[in-house]
Amino acid sequence: MFTSLKGRSVIVTGASKGIGRGIALRFGLEGCNVLVVARTAAEAEAVVHEIAASGGAARAFAADVTRPADMRAMAAAAVEHFGGIDVLCANAGIFPTARLGEMTEGDFDAVIGTNLKGCFLAVSACLPAMKSSTSGRIILTSSITGPMTGYPGWSHYGASKAGQLGFMRTAAIELAPYGITVNAVLPGNVATEALAGMGVEYVRGMVASVPLRRLGSVADIANAALFFASDEAAYITGQSLVVDGGQILPESLAALQA
Ligand code: NAP
Repeated sequence: MFTSLKGRSVIVTGASKGIGRGIALRFGLEGCNVLVVARTAAEAEAVVHEIAASGGAARAFAADVTRPADMRAMAAAAVEHFGGIDVLCANAGIFPTARLGEMTEGDFDAVIGTNLKGCFLAVSACLPAMKSSTSGRIILTSSITGPMTGYPGWSHYGASKAGQLGFMRTAAIELAPYGITVNAVLPGNVATEALAGMGVEYVRGMVASVPLRRLGSVADIANAALFFASDEAAYITGQSLVVDGGQILPESLAALQA
């Protein structure tokens, strides 16, 4: 049904684990050339091997999204290895918790610096090469937390994720003349190691608040990213897609139990 993405050059930041790994594997399955980006080279390499084992092509690249020089080197590596950049999945993110009153300026800056500024730096670095693509796609991994909901301890995180959508809307207008679309996936609670690290009670509470009664899988999020990258999504830009099993829908717990 969908036009093949085989041979497209795809960068995924934060691709060594969790959602980013899922996105990288999915694009690998589609026959894309995937640059697997994370700070920890060995973990990025492991994902490259997984992609190769499934028949795809990939390279690892160690980079920190908070460093402009790293982002420029990342874009250069994709151009060198794959001949250009068609798709950027700006996915790298962190979600430490700290309540107001305890949150330090350093805590706030670290989250905004990685999640929001890191997104800007990745997009800026990839832009020169993406302008040459005939099917440029930028896909941000935002969250329901911030744009749609709040959760104690995540005021900085929520601000970073809502900020990504503000960034996206103007970027979509500015990049439209180049045929580049900019969209965001807003995951709910996705089963990753990082989420498991939040503890059994947190996970149990989250599952209970999801109408579809399960956490999301990384494949659920990767499928949405793949759709935004497709030729069939060429006329969609500046939009966000919630992938959360219906978690933001109930007005109250009673609505779920009724
Ligand atoms: P994760 O499992 O902790 O993976 C994070 C990835 O980002 C790792 O590959 C990590 O590798 C990389 N990373 C972190 N800081 C980086 C930096 N400064 N530069 C480059 N890479 C960096 O997290 P996740 O749960 O998959 O989350 C991925 C994205 O989805 C985030 O943007 C998060 O906000 C969003 N999200 C997650 C959920 C969820 O339920 N899991 C829900 C909504 C939104 P290194 O540490 O080696 O760099």
